[in-house]
Formats: sequence, structure tokens, C-alpha cells
Amino acid sequence: MTDTLFGKIIRREIPADIVYEDDDVLGFRDIAPQAPVHVLFIPKNQAIPTLDDLRPGDAELVGKLVLAAAEYARREGLAQKGYRVVMNCREDAGQTVFHLHLHLLAGARLGHFGAPR
Ligand code: 5GP
Repeated sequence: MTDTLFGKIIRREIPADIVYEDDDVLGFRDIAPQAPVHVLFIPKNQAIPTLDDLRPGDAELVGKLVLAAAEYARREGLAQKGYRVVMNCREDAGQTVFHLHLHLLAGARLGHFGAPR
């Protein structure tokens, strides 16, 4: 398992504001939030570097990440007004941590995204 900053968070070697946990997924607040609610959901037991490294056998894991975010949003009362999930893959998307993760952004009307910078 390749080690990253998120590996250290999973092992509680560095602190994080953990807001969701189940057998497979850990959710914690982003240190530099881009919306009033910004939570990262990561696989706990596998360190897959990028979306491009996913294989068909990882379908269940990806589903678990998405379901964890949806469950958290419902639990926190965010689902009715809505939210966005984002997964960045490599350089052009601005990926900075190479442990697969899903961003949940919520708590405000989100602006348009996806335009080149
Ligand atoms: P990426 O840009 O790779 O899609 O997302 C990585 C995210 O991790 C960024 O939004 C960044 O703010 C967040 N991040 C980086 N270092 C830390 C940290 O030490 N703790 C937490 N909670 N988030 C971090």
C-alpha cells in the first residue's frame, strides 16, 4: 500500500476532523474548504493513487465512496438543497494527493465549474 498523507490520517498519525467512518470508507473535513461543507471520502483499506488506476474489480469500492457521501449528506440535512461530488484525476484536474478520494461540496449555491484556468 503506497503511503500518502491520507494513509497517515487513516492510521491517526496526523490529526483530521473525521466526520464519517464505516468498514471501508473514512470521511474527514478538507483542510482548505472550497465550500461551507467540504468533506473528503477515501477508501480505508486500499490506497489506489488515481481514478485511472481503477479496475473493474474496484466497482464496489467506488460505489461505497459515493454511497458514503450520499449517506453523510442525508444525515447532515444537505441532501434536500443539494451538493456536488468531485474526483480529480492527475495534473490537469489539480489532483494533489495520490490516494483516491471523493470531494463532497455543499452548504451554498455552487458556481459553475470546469472551465480552463
Ligand atoms: P485533490 O486536489 O488531490 O483532489 O484534493 C486533495 C485535497 O486534500 C485538497 O482539497 C486539500 O485541501 C486536502 N488536503 C491536503 N492536505 C490535507 C491535510 O493535511 N488534511 C486535510 N484534512 N485535508 C488536506
